[in-house]
Parts: sequence; C-alpha cells; structure tokens
Amino acid sequence: MPEFVGAVDQGTTSTRFMIFDHDGNEVARHQLEHEQIFPRSGWVEHDPVEIWERTNSTMQNAVRQGALSAADLAAIGITNQRETTVIWDPHTGQPHYNAIVWQDTRTDSIAAALEREHGELIRRKTGLPPATYFSGGKIKWILENVDGVRQAAENGRAVFGNTDAWVLWNLTGGPNGGIHATDVTNASRTMLMNLETLDWDDELLDIFGIPRAMLPAINPSSHPEAFGTTRTTRPLRTAVPITGVLGDQQAATVGQVCFRPGEAKNTYGTGNFLVLNTGTEIVRSRSGLLTTLAYQFGDEPAVYALEGSIAVTGSAVQWLRDQMHIISSSSEVEALARQAQDNGGIYFVPAFSGLFAPYWRSDARGAIVGLARFHTNAHLARATLEAICYQSRDVAEAMAQDSGVALDVLRVDGGVTANDLCMQIQADVLGVPVSRPVVAETTALGAAYAAGLATGFWQNTDELRSHWHESKRWEPQWSDEEREKGYAGWKKAVERSLDWVD
Ligand code: ADP
Repeated sequence: MPEFVGAVDQGTTSTRFMIFDHDGNEVARHQLEHEQIFPRSGWVEHDPVEIWERTNSTMQNAVRQGALSAADLAAIGITNQRETTVIWDPHTGQPHYNAIVWQDTRTDSIAAALEREHGELIRRKTGLPPATYFSGGKIKWILENVDGVRQAAENGRAVFGNTDAWVLWNLTGGPNGGIHATDVTNASRTMLMNLETLDWDDELLDIFGIPRAMLPAINPSSHPEAFGTTRTTRPLRTAVPITGVLGDQQAATVGQVCFRPGEAKNTYGTGNFLVLNTGTEIVRSRSGLLTTLAYQFGDEPAVYALEGSIAVTGSAVQWLRDQMHIISSSSEVEALARQAQDNGGIYFVPAFSGLFAPYWRSDARGAIVGLARFHTNAHLARATLEAICYQSRDVAEAMAQDSGVALDVLRVDGGVTANDLCMQIQADVLGVPVSRPVVAETTALGAAYAAGLATGFWQNTDELRSHWHESKRWEPQWSDEEREKGYAGWKKAVERSLDWVD
C-alpha cells in the first residue's frame, strides 16, 4: 500500500512539491522560484511554460530527495495561486500569452465599467465586487487585446485555466488527452461562476463575452476520478491518481482544519488572506469581504466562506529589500524593526495594487505618513510590520460585523509567521492570541488532505483534526488604550491613501 500523499503548491513566487505521511508530517519537499515579469507599471505576468517546467522538476526532485518512488504516492493534490489567468492552445500546449497574475491592475477600466453597469448582478451571483483581482476581466482583456485569440477561442484553439487547470492538463497528458478541469474554489474566483448553481453562469459569460467552450469543467475539490491520473511520461512515469484540487487559501483553510462554521485562519504570504468557514450557508458580506467557496468534498454539499483578501503584506517586506534596499533578506526586517521602540508615529499603507478588502479601491495609492527628521529605517521597518497587522485588523473587524462573532484566537500560517515580532504585534493590534501550528505548510497540507480524503487514505475530517498541534502562541500585551490609539492612527493613514487618486 502506498504510504504517502503528494501535493503540488503552485504559488505566486514559487512552486513546491511536498510529500506527507499518514500523520500529516512532511516527508520530503522541493521548491523552485519562477520569474516575476513586470512589463509596465501595474502589470504582473508569469511564463506558464516556466511554471510547468518548474512543476516537473520539483516533483522529480522531491520524490528523489525523499528516497521514494512515485509508486509510494497514494494520491496527489494540486493547490495554486488563484485568479492568475492562463490561455493556451489545447492542440499544441502553447500559451497564447503570458499568465496575467492576480496582482495585475491592467483591467482597471474593465472593472470600473463592470461596476457601473452590472455591479449588483455580479455581487449577487458571484459574491465578488468587480475588481482587477479576479480572472474574468483578465480573460476578457486577452480576448480583446491579443491578436487572434478570440478567433482561436471560437475554433477550439484557446482554452482558459487558472494555474491549477494548467498544471492538471499538462500532468494528465497535455495535448494527448489532458483533462481540462478545475474545482469549485478556483472557479469561485473567476467572477463567472454562480455561487448557488456552482456552474458557469450564462448571463455573466454573455456580459464578459467569454465562450463557455473555453472554460474547464467544474468539479468538487476532492474526488476519486474527476481529475484523472498523472501521465506515464515525465515527471513521474507512473499513473498516480490526482484526487484533490483547491485554491491556495482554501487549501490552507483545510490544512488548518477549519471544518466547522466559525473557524478561521489567516495566511501571511505575498498578501494576507483571512478565511472564515460559514458552513453550507452563503453569507453575504455588508462589510467588504468576499463570499467564496471553502471546499466541496465528493458528493457532500459545498461549504462556503467569507474571505478578507489583502494584496500587499509580505511583498511590502520584499519592497523594503528590492526597491528601498534597507534590508538584504526578508528575515532581516525583524532585527531592523526591533531597533525602534515603536513606530515613532509613522504609518505605512502599502497600497501598491490599490486596496483590496475591505476597501476595494483600485485607485488607492501607497502612503507613508507622519514623517519627521527623527525617523530612521528602523521606524519604516516597524511600520511595515504594523501595516501587515493593521490590514489584518481591518478585515477581522469586517468579519466580526458580517458574522456577528468575534475571533477568540487567530490561527496563522505562511512565510511571514516566521517573524516573531510581527506575530507579537498582531496579537497586540487585535487584542486576541495568535496561534501557529507545527506544520506551517498548511497550503500544501490542505491539498494533500483533499486528495487523501477522496481515496480513503484518510477516513474523515475528524481524523485530520487530530493531526493539528500548536507550535507557538503569542498573547496580547498592549493595553486597550494603546491598541485603540494605534488603530485610530492607522485609519487616518488609510484615509490619506484613499484620497491620493491619480
Ligand atoms: P507565497 O506563498 O505567497 O509565495 P510565502 O508563504 O512563501 O508566500 O511567504 C513569502 C513572503 O513572506 C514574502 O513576501 C517574504 O517577503 C515574506 N517573509 C518571509 N520571511 C519573512 C520574515 N522573517 N519577516 C517578514 N516577512 C517575511
């Protein structure tokens, strides 16, 4: 009997393949970065062929490093950066254009027109506000701006997928019988899927001018057959069933075992994503959160979620490193920030992709306010970490308003949670404890869980729950007065960022 489950995590900055044992412990991993392409201000692209090549290599290398063979894998799950849009020719496997990444804001005017003409309808049907973030506008942009693609789409020579579908199609055979499918969670981020029917919505397809034939089949996130098996050529040379597909934030929700309504997690990566399980009920946000799918396991009813998406958190630390050159690695930000007692009265609103939840203002611009001659790099580093935490407080407040339930503890994961000071500030700013599990790679773990549940490798969600163990907890230390004074300053800074329209 194969003793392990594998997971492809096709992320924004890198692709990993991880292998887990029956207790949810990591056995092997390999990870490779891919190029971030910035052709113009506001544009962000990836090369889909590079992503597929990296996926191949990480799968082969992880299996080798674990001294395993593909026959040791009971199943494979796929998780991915969501919304990022790939359009390719299914006869040749060649992309028609680079992938347009979720952070890309070129569809600004498309989003504004959708808001004006169909804002209410789109919100009601998809749970999403029209924004540059989602795939629908990106598909429309490619159809309208890349020569020959509309015609190719009409002739069956152009199909769409997020990177889950791109990787799945290639893994299952590419032009030779590759499966063109996605899952409900990824589909819920396109602005084209109806939240109630869990199918592409003809009225929306009409509004966007997107032919249905371009789109992948929508499956449950965990299913024994719907996603096929790996082809018997590269990378694994063995037919391993692919039985789980989930967008990265939903995968982290599963990896953090948030299976009950009211359970939530916050992932700190390039951006931050707070996801609250709302059960089988579709909860409409009145406070700027997204209504989205959490997961659907096999024939069970779909589970929904409220999500607070923040575009720029860890990537603000990368900005300090790559553009401001005040640190030489992301982890150095902690020591630098510790040189300052506090923020010295400055606030940094890193609205590089406009502001996502709860504001949804693509015209917002970044701001650093409150500067005096006295301030140093250390204050800016500290203000950057605080920005990560204050943005999370904004979405936590919205979540409390929508759900009527305040968080009593915040479960966290992702690259930034290695930063002890940042997590302490998070507990201080929220006034609730922050808790991190032993397995910090919850995204890959969640995809493995979805895959393993479909094949009987794991019996049920209670079994998965028993794998979750806390590794670290941060308790709030600020007084209520300090907390509210700090937050009031942040809100003023956000006003400046919202006022600063080009
Ligand atoms: P993703 O899955 O979005 O690519 P990860 O979970 O791998 O992200 O986290 C990477 C992000 O975390 C980067 O933006 C990086 O700047 C940030 N990061 C990594 N280590 C630290 C640290 N010690 N302090 C602050 N930020 C960090």
